[in-house]
Amino acid sequence: MSDTFGVYVHVPFCASRCGYCDFNTYTPAETTSSYEAYLSSLARELELAAAASGASPADTVFVGGGTPSLLGAEGLGRVLEMVRATFGLRPGAEVTTESNPESTSPQYFAGLLDAGFNRVSLGMQSASTPVLRVLDRRHTPGRAVAAAREARAAGFDHVNLDMIYGTPTENDDDVRATLDAVLSAGVDHVSAYSLIVEDGTAMARKIRRGELPAPEEDVYADRYELIANTLDEAGFGWYEVSNWAAPGGQCRHNLLYWRGGQWWGAGPGAHGDVGGQRLVNVKRPERYNEMLGAGELPIAEREDISAEARHFERIMLGLRLREGVPRSWIGEAARGVVDKHAAAGLLAVGERVAVTDRGRLLADGIITDILAAE
Ligand code: SF4
Repeated sequence: MSDTFGVYVHVPFCASRCGYCDFNTYTPAETTSSYEAYLSSLARELELAAAASGASPADTVFVGGGTPSLLGAEGLGRVLEMVRATFGLRPGAEVTTESNPESTSPQYFAGLLDAGFNRVSLGMQSASTPVLRVLDRRHTPGRAVAAAREARAAGFDHVNLDMIYGTPTENDDDVRATLDAVLSAGVDHVSAYSLIVEDGTAMARKIRRGELPAPEEDVYADRYELIANTLDEAGFGWYEVSNWAAPGGQCRHNLLYWRGGQWWGAGPGAHGDVGGQRLVNVKRPERYNEMLGAGELPIAEREDISAEARHFERIMLGLRLREGVPRSWIGEAARGVVDKHAAAGLLAVGERVAVTDRGRLLADGIITDILAAE
């Protein structure tokens, strides 16, 4: 297990709900919790959490959501101050916040930087207006690029743009236009995930009613290749199957998750992994406020993770990383499967086992094969 420690803070508010999203987030009509009530509960949770977990200073902090930028630079500054005052920050800690392009401005980024944030992650999703409309995203395509430039101009060295591919109605040209926009934005990190239609979302209902075509899953591989080749050629190195960075731009917080570090997850519905236990907070902000008001940690589930489950998880996450996993982690029983994929040029095998550039497209299937044989 990696000995890095992180703090994740979940901000469970959004101005409206995007049709594909099943995150634990609430529009103003869906919760009675004010931002202020949430912030004071969060302060209480972090105090209790630091006391309960032995208060390791954080190597990384990641404020995600929901839409953290709805709290404004001032609110996010308060969040970071709470982490400083409880867990503490290690010198050189990476401090990221997600932001929605439409709730940002040059003043916002300047305020974040002053507060001590040093990385911003922006949800761009697509440069195509029709695709953004299918995703119910509120920003115009140019806004995400403008926001990334504003963040860079304010002094952020580390800026990520998230893109989604495979949205119904999207075509190759939409993806090309998105990549052009991403590359023009001056960012040092790009994440690209295929759209997953989650049950219970507005998008799933529209597809079921025939109002929207289902995503064409057979285009995912081609779209991924287009993205991977374009980003590779532009000098971004992939370090995880869905993540690319310019030198020095890798997200340390995500690496902590993927390499088996520990983190406290604060905020409604947040997940954490501390002291060998997986913790999940209560989801509803009202319940969260109520429990913290009563001086209780807002934990809904607490699960001991067995050594075997941990082993499987480390292989599953580690094999999506370019660095792969130590060969010694792969049991005798799975060696044949590894050799087969190595012979096909999909895995590189030495001291470590890692997917090759060609194999990354098939990483999930390769991992399934290996775990089935383990
Ligand atoms: S802004 Fe993000 S978290 Fe909020 S509804 Fe849209 S996708 Fe979900």
